[in-house]
Amino acid sequence: MTQTNVVDTPQATVAGGADKPHVLVELDHVEKHFGALHVLKDINLKVNKGEVLVIVGPSGSGKSTMCRTINRLETIDSGDIRIDGQSLPQEGKALAQLRAEVGMVFQSFNLFANKTILDNVTLAPIKVRKRNKVEAEREAMDLLDRVGVASQANKMPSQLSGGQQQRVAIARALAMHPKVMLFDEPTSALDPEMVNEVLDVMVELAHEGMTMLCVTHEMGFARKAADRIVFMADGQILEQDTPDAFFEHPKTERAKDFLSKIL
Ligand code: ADP
Ligand code: MG
Repeated sequence: MTQTNVVDTPQATVAGGADKPHVLVELDHVEKHFGALHVLKDINLKVNKGEVLVIVGPSGSGKSTMCRTINRLETIDSGDIRIDGQSLPQEGKALAQLRAEVGMVFQSFNLFANKTILDNVTLAPIKVRKRNKVEAEREAMDLLDRVGVASQANKMPSQLSGGQQQRVAIARALAMHPKVMLFDEPTSALDPEMVNEVLDVMVELAHEGMTMLCVTHEMGFARKAADRIVFMADGQILEQDTPDAFFEHPKTERAKDFLSKIL
């Protein structure tokens, strides 16, 4: 938490009590169905500023859906989701603004295929944040440098490796100065030799104090970077604990079973 080159939001300040944590993301009794499928069941989750959560659980347990509700790529049936105290607006400009506070990196490198790497990173800051082009490009080059792909700035996405594209996707999300970053299995589509170059960037971000929710099967990353492991199964959060406690002493049979298959 000492360096703040990328994460330049001010330190947590909470009105009415210095020791009260600054809750940046809050899911409050969130329910979601896909037709008859009850995919999120009474999800309650608080993420404090600077915290790194790793979300694990069997395939189909609702991890991606939960992440997608946080920037309203999925609507919810009931409950409430707050970003830095503000409920997610239904639509329109207010939603776009709040969405800009939540950076997201997906499994597939969904860069704009017909734009250069540099344009991929500057597009949203110029359009949504109304940044001036020269400034946006200067910052984009800094971010690309930080993730190790500055020399690729004028290339098209298809000319980059998967690992490089995923690092560009991280730089692109950071260019919006989000309050929180969501990662949904960012390395699971990568060739094995590229996994670490992406995880290294994520570890660095975590150490800089970025607030992060990461769905990943990379347990080495979880142990190294997570403050808390959230274990989901069947649309429910079954356990939330420190990595040591979760990996060494899982409480539920579901978690024991899950860990026995992946470790
Ligand atoms: P996870 O990320 O943990 O693998 P998901 O959130 O992707 O789980 O999916 C949870 C459940 O919801 C799965 O059964 C999946 O098939 C279903 N699901 C996900 N997205 C949709 C959708 N758009 N329409 C219908 N069912 C969906
Ligand atoms: Mg998923």
